[in-house]
Amino acid sequence: MKKIILFLLLISSLLQAGDKPYLLLISLDGFRWDYLNRGLTPNMNSMAGQGTRALSLQPVFPSKTFPNHYSIVTGMYPEHHGIIYNRFLNPQSGAEYRVGDSISVRDDRWYGGETIWATAQRQGMKTACAFWPGSETHDPVKHPTYFYNYDGSVTHDQRLDWVIGWFSLPEAERPQVVTLYFSDTDDSGHRYGPDAVGNNDVIQRLDQTIGRLWQRLKQLEIYPNLNIVIVSDHGMTSMAEVQSILLSEILAGLEYTVSGYGPLVQFFPVDKQNEAELYARLKENEQGYTIYRKAEMPAGLHYSEHPFIGSLLAVADPPFTFTTSESENNESALGDHGYNPWLLDMHGILIGFGSGFNRMETGTVQNIDLYPLMCALLGLEPNPGIDGRLERVEFLIRNKK
Ligand code: AMP
Ligand code: ZN
Ligand code: ZN
Repeated sequence: MKKIILFLLLISSLLQAGDKPYLLLISLDGFRWDYLNRGLTPNMNSMAGQGTRALSLQPVFPSKTFPNHYSIVTGMYPEHHGIIYNRFLNPQSGAEYRVGDSISVRDDRWYGGETIWATAQRQGMKTACAFWPGSETHDPVKHPTYFYNYDGSVTHDQRLDWVIGWFSLPEAERPQVVTLYFSDTDDSGHRYGPDAVGNNDVIQRLDQTIGRLWQRLKQLEIYPNLNIVIVSDHGMTSMAEVQSILLSEILAGLEYTVSGYGPLVQFFPVDKQNEAELYARLKENEQGYTIYRKAEMPAGLHYSEHPFIGSLLAVADPPFTFTTSESENNESALGDHGYNPWLLDMHGILIGFGSGFNRMETGTVQNIDLYPLMCALLGLEPNPGIDGRLERVEFLIRNKK
């Protein structure tokens, strides 16, 4: 009799927890791949040791915050999803998308593809974002069920309260896909440089936040069905030896419309002659950067198809950086990113923790493959029009090949 009661209790607790899958996607902005090897992150290392850890997570080009966060949640390259930089032009209409401009970042017309939360909602799940680029749009089909407009001053613990609150909602209202975002290591990497003590202090504090979050998640009813994916959007390279490229000097006397700053600038020539002149001048002065015609961009950068991409592109190599009117307030940075994703300094991290992940270490994973991976963990049918490939990452999933 006792055995039967125990068995019934076990079954009822399993039924209570339900068999619904839950996913928490955490982004630590600018957290370079090697920060986990500094002896500063016991909590994340513990999660990585019990789950999946990639050597690094390769960003898409350009290795900036918005294009990469949006690629992680859509599985597409920027040339397909349309968020091609943190700031860019629609050359047809003259409209500008700009991080920090709440009107353009909430305008759903800029965002192509389908986010993981839109995919989940289309298939009957609720979703929530404690911040994520692209989560604040006005269109109710495109935004998550629950979200907050970005406010970088919200404390870590307030963000944790949101996440724990959502996962504690009654089942019918509870989101199954939740995102959480922290900008701290990006801010400190720019300010102090990736190898500075000031940056290490921030890495350590962020790991303590993850530790507090983990303790609180363990108390939740859904914990056995929760997979946690910790990523970063890109890494950081030292700009201590920065070399500024002054476009106004190189292009003196020529007419030009330029968009971008730092590692990448794009030109929108008024006609073929203007294009030829700009190209010739930029080619003559090609030092610390490479000038490409749009159609000649290296195929591996996947950055030539979108109509918002300029017809000429100049891509800098670190520690070179383009100085334009858009870049003024970034001049004193001791670290930067946005460069070619083949550079290891641009790589971020990937940790997968929970019953869905194999306990293993693997090599570099591409961030466009995370969307199909997350769909597989949640049992969702992914948007078929993506660049990411489940075949490249499904060996990370437990009970898959
Ligand atoms: P960057 O280093 O220029 O690629 O951009 C990083 C900055 O983007 C962070 O320091 C944040 O201030 C900002 N940021 C991150 N997420 C958002 C968001 N959802 N909305 C507005 N700004 C954001
Ligand atoms: Zn970033
Ligand atoms: Zn940054």
